[in-house]
Amino acid sequence: MHELSHYLLDHQTPYLFSDFPLFYIDASPLQELEANTLSSILLFPRKAIEHCAKNSFSIHRIKNEYGISEQLIRKEINMSGALKQFKGWSPFKRLAIDQESEI
Ligand SMILES: [Zn+2]
Repeated sequence: MHELSHYLLDHQTPYLFSDFPLFYIDASPLQELEANTLSSILLFPRKAIEHCAKNSFSIHRIKNEYGISEQLIRKEINMSGALKQFKGWSPFKRLAIDQESEI
């Protein structure tokens, strides 16, 4: 998703394959930040965060259903402001059922 984000953002950097830029190289730190930000949003968009909040999903359930890392989930939830909007939602609180399913 990161490399696709470079492409979608039309980053003009050298790339290894000329027909389709699969791997951008030597992107600037700003372009890397932009690509990381867009890829995170694409993987876990605001609408998905709202869905998780409205259904009181735990971070463990989000990981399983969306196939994304806990680090990305935590970052996007914190950046989205969803915890303030959905005050009763506590996705980082571990539930007994989550702990059982990891065994
Ligand atoms: Zn990159």
